[in-house]
Parts: sequence; C-alpha cells; structure tokens
Amino acid sequence: MGSDSDLPIMQEAIDILESFDIQIEVDIVSAHSCLPMIAVLPETTQQVSDVLRVCYEEGVPVVPRGSGTSLAGGAMPTADCVILGVAKLNNVLETDYDNRLIRVQSGRTNLSVSGAVEEDGFFYAPDPSSQLACAIAGNIGMNSGGAHCLKYGVTTNNLMGVTMVMMDGEIVEIGGSHLDSAGLDLLGVICGSEGQLGVVTEATLRILSKPVGARPVLIAFDKNEVAGACVADIIKAGVLPVAMEFMDRLCIETSENFANAGYPNAEALLIVEVEGSELEIQEQLTKIISIAEKHNHGKASGTYQTVSLRLTDKPRVGSSLLALYALSGWQLGAKQAQEPTRL
Ligand SMILES: Cc1cc2nc3c(=O)[nH]c(=O)nc-3n(C[C@H](O)[C@H](O)[C@H](O)COP(=O)(O)OP(=O)(O)OC[C@H]3O[C@@H](n4cnc5c(N)ncnc54)[C@H](O)[C@@H]3O)c2cc1C
Repeated sequence: MGSDSDLPIMQEAIDILESFDIQIEVDIVSAHSCLPMIAVLPETTQQVSDVLRVCYEEGVPVVPRGSGTSLAGGAMPTADCVILGVAKLNNVLETDYDNRLIRVQSGRTNLSVSGAVEEDGFFYAPDPSSQLACAIAGNIGMNSGGAHCLKYGVTTNNLMGVTMVMMDGEIVEIGGSHLDSAGLDLLGVICGSEGQLGVVTEATLRILSKPVGARPVLIAFDKNEVAGACVADIIKAGVLPVAMEFMDRLCIETSENFANAGYPNAEALLIVEVEGSELEIQEQLTKIISIAEKHNHGKASGTYQTVSLRLTDKPRVGSSLLALYALSGWQLGAKQAQEPTRL
C-alpha cells in the first residue's frame, strides 16, 4: 500500500507505525504472531467504510479486530493484511430502559456495557470470562457466552441489531430496537461469522433487570458421572440455575494448588448458582440440594458440601472467575464467621 495514502486515516496509521515499534498480534495465539501490513483504528462508521472501500478496490485482505482475545485465531493478522481495530469506537450511543436496550459502538468492552447501566439496576447478560477485555465486536464475531448462558443465552440471544460495513464499504443496518425483523434472520448469520461478512461498528443489545440477589453452592461428588446425572436431574426438575459449572479431580487439584482455597477432596464438583429474592434462592437451593443428596446415595454429610454466600450485588463474573468467586466466598465465610453451610 506504500506510505502515500489518499485517506487521512490510513496516512495517520502509517505515520504512527513508522514512528513507533508497534506490534499488532493476537494476544493469546502468540505462537503465530505476525505483523500486519498496516493497522488502522477508525473512530467512525464512515471511516470504516472508507478503509474497506479502498481495500476492496485494491484487493487487500482486511482482518477485523475487537480486543484480540479470541482463542480461535480469528483476529490473527497476516503479513499482507490490514488490521481494522474497533477499539476507538467505544461510546454508548443510547440507553432505552423502557424498551430494555442499549446501543453501543462495537469496540466497547463487554463488562463496560453492564457498567453503563448497572447504577440504574440493569445488566447485559452474556459474560465471557474475558469480559473485562473483550469487545462487543468480538462477542458478535464469535457468538460468545459465559457462565450465565444457561439462563440468559449467548450473544445471539441478546443481540437486537447491528450497523455493519460490508467488505465493499457499503453501510447496512440489520435489526434494531424492535423485537424481531421480518424475513431471513440475517442477524443470526452475522452473529458468529468471525468477521467474514463485514465489520460491525454499532450494536443494539438487550439489557435485563439485575436480580435481587445470587448465591452459588458447591457440591462435591464421588464420581464425574454422578455429577453429570445430577445436572440432568436438576434441569429435569424444572429448576433453572443461572449457572452450573463442573470440575473434575484434575481441575479441582490444579485450582487448589494455585489458589489454596480449601476445595473439598472430591472426584467432581458442581458450582451451581441461583438467583432471585431470598425466598426464591432458598426454594431453588432446597430443591437442588435434595436432588444432590439422592445422587450421593443419601450420604448427606461428608459426601458433598455447600457454601452459602450472602446476597450480593457484586458485578457479575464470567465462568472461570465464577470458580474463584465461589472460592473467595468459601474463604469469606470462614473469615467473617459466616459459616459455610454443611449438610
Ligand atoms: C481468558 C479468556 C477467557 C475466555 N472466556 C470465554 C468465555 O467464557 N466464553 C467465550 O465465548 N469466549 C471466551 N473467550 C474467547 C474470547 O474472549 C471471546 O471469543 C471474545 O468474544 C472475543 O472478543 P474480542 O473483542 O477479543 O474479539 P477478537 O479476538 O478481536 O475477534 C474475534 C473474531 O471476531 C471478529 N471481529 C472482531 N471485531 C469485529 C467487527 N467489528 N466486526 C466483525 N467481526 C469482528 C474477528 O475478525 C475475529 O474473527 C475467552 C478468551 C480468553 C483469553
């Protein structure tokens, strides 16, 4: 592409790259890191369109990039490509509590979407563990979800509309602030398309009322299969926990060696989180514990243990952090004389 671009944004990017030793790579797939030909960080949908139009006309490959946390290598540059990062497109454009939606620019991080509405009692449900860093753009590219997808679904279930720039520079609006569009489900095709259909610059997202409280329980089992059967029976009983996470012995021991949190010595653990009012929490936990007891052959004591946490309005956390959350609750209970519930 040379260093004499007609587009101010391209020229700006070239100047920046020439003056600094900047490396753009996929953070996680570092074994295959490679410098792109150029990286651009547009600030408007129109600038995205300008870049894509030029690249389309010149036959230059473009790799859209959110925060570069995807583990599948989708945002990995090649030496002949333009990396088009949306990090500077990070504003909240609209919040509409009556219709329970928020419209954001796609470079906004997942967690900061909830951050924008939490004081008003709302949150954005999809919660990949990388939510502190990953962008809504990448969430849409990968159709990401997290620990709470059991109850709330993944990105596709919470995405209402996008502004997207096609690879030839055309700007299109798909979906919007209404519940469902007539015709083909184009939004469903875009969500999970790994940046291959265009560059999403804005997204309309469903937001939900924050639950009154949430509480995880930790249940230990003698066998992985028994833990699995317990999960099936909890669902069969019509209880819908907000999250259920499974750990086998290797995972338990590895976590224990790292965090030293006092996990029980067990073959398998389930971390089951329920939410609602105190009454709803108690009701769900009673059912879950009674199902778990049956799977532990009535050996209520010693075969499994549960940890009760206080009602909390802590920020919601993603899957791998959920384990740590439960662990910190386990320690918290001991330290603050809030006894872990042992049944
Ligand atoms: C520690 C860790 C934990 C993780 N936990 C989870 C988890 O719990 N659940 C989960 O689903 N994933 C998880 N991931 C994977 C990753 O974080 C998610 O896939 C996330 O959605 C990627 O977002 P990103 O902004 O980093 O996207 P990127 O990595 O930048 O891009 C991802 C894909 O989307 C495309 N893309 C980026 N921007 C756009 C755009 N503007 N328009 C169109 N396409 C675009 C890219 O080309 C690429 O194909 C985890 C990753 C890490 C490192």
